[in-house]
Amino acid sequence: MDTPVMPEAITAQKPGSIRTVGIIGAGQMGNGIAHVAALAEYDVVVNDLSPDAFEKALKIIGRNLDRQVSKGVIPESKKTEALSRITFADSFAGLGSCDLVIEAAVEDESIKRSIFSELCKHLKPETIVATNTSSISVTRLASITDRPDRFIGMHFMNPVPLMELVELIRGIATEDDTFETSRAFVSSLGKKIAISEDFPAFIVNRILLPMINEAVYTLYEGVGTVESIDKAMKLGANHPMGPLELADFIGLDTCLSVMQVLYEGLADSKYRPCPLLVKYVEAGWLGRKAQRGFYDYRGDTPIPTR
Ligand code: NAD
Repeated sequence: MDTPVMPEAITAQKPGSIRTVGIIGAGQMGNGIAHVAALAEYDVVVNDLSPDAFEKALKIIGRNLDRQVSKGVIPESKKTEALSRITFADSFAGLGSCDLVIEAAVEDESIKRSIFSELCKHLKPETIVATNTSSISVTRLASITDRPDRFIGMHFMNPVPLMELVELIRGIATEDDTFETSRAFVSSLGKKIAISEDFPAFIVNRILLPMINEAVYTLYEGVGTVESIDKAMKLGANHPMGPLELADFIGLDTCLSVMQVLYEGLADSKYRPCPLLVKYVEAGWLGRKAQRGFYDYRGDTPIPTR
């Protein structure tokens, strides 16, 4: 009897071999990741549903780089160089030369599923695919791809250029090479790493989002106003931002999605999303990105909406 021939295993990019980084989603996280990757001298290809989103992202990146120049964090030449490294791809085919692709589209599992089922056929076999999901199972998302061993959770914090931490989350099938290459990539951006197991919302959001949800309940039950809740937590707990201000900053749609993942994934009623949070999302009052959330940002100073 013939001995069965095992197919040759495909190994992931090796540490230090990443040159070109693809980013799917040019929203607040996508533009932040593009910013730090381009500054670290990676070529960056950004994909979004519309070129408008890319133009908007490029403007924001330019503004944020200007701020770094004026504070003396980087010289002007670094800014120009970083901007010239960022290009747009209007389809996944344009991500074909990438060594690493980071998905940072909206926090909606059905959208992420459709992205991953379409993406991989355009990539090199050794390309690592990462998701910036805030809460969804990395193992489940990996299973949609042709490369669960070369798939990882790479959870950046908002705003990416300022926040030091990135959580790295291995799915059940993530290979050591994938993990080590991802770790080296994140370190090369000047970020620190916290390793989290693949459980709903990982570490930071498992702790942070229930606190935000509780702040929304505190508002819903009339215990305090928007201003008094934020003031209480800033001055009483020494938080740099109040929880409602922070919710607006994260995006209320993202906050709600994370609470839903916690509620369903851990089957514990303590994670029930506050009905008031649901109402704000239904209204399209998604926080800063929509110019309205727990505060109204359309004027010179934010005004509480309750
Ligand atoms: P966002 O709403 O600012 O941006 C999402 C972008 O994805 C939009 O530009 C949208 O056009 C694009 N998009 C949607 N569907 C797409 C598709 N099929 N193909 C390509 N692009 C598509 O959202 P965000 O705050 O940047 O969040 C993005 C991801 O990062 C989410 O998974 C979120 O949970 C995660 N995250 C968010 C934060 C935060 O504080 N906002 C922090 C860490 C991680």
